[in-house]
Amino acid sequence: MTKKSSNTVHENSIHFETEQTMKVDVDPRRCQGHTLCAMAAPALFELSEIDGHATAVRSDIPADLADSAREAFRSCPEQAVSLH
Ligand code: SF4
Repeated sequence: MTKKSSNTVHENSIHFETEQTMKVDVDPRRCQGHTLCAMAAPALFELSEIDGHATAVRSDIPADLADSAREAFRSCPEQAVSLH
């Protein structure tokens, strides 16, 4: 039996159809330092003290932070947060 391994994006939500590990990244070219991602998921992002730009502090997201990661993805007004 082969496991289906596709992710689908429906408007502002992402559905992971397998139990694979979710990963998060921030595109530094898009990030404008709104800080909303870190408010949604403080364990996943750190902010620059200089300009407030975010970086992901860990790429693999543990299951208990998956909802926070999705909230960060939805809250970023620049679409700088990606989940894959
Ligand atoms: S919400 Fe988006 S634009 Fe704002 S700091 Fe986070 S990644 Fe950057």
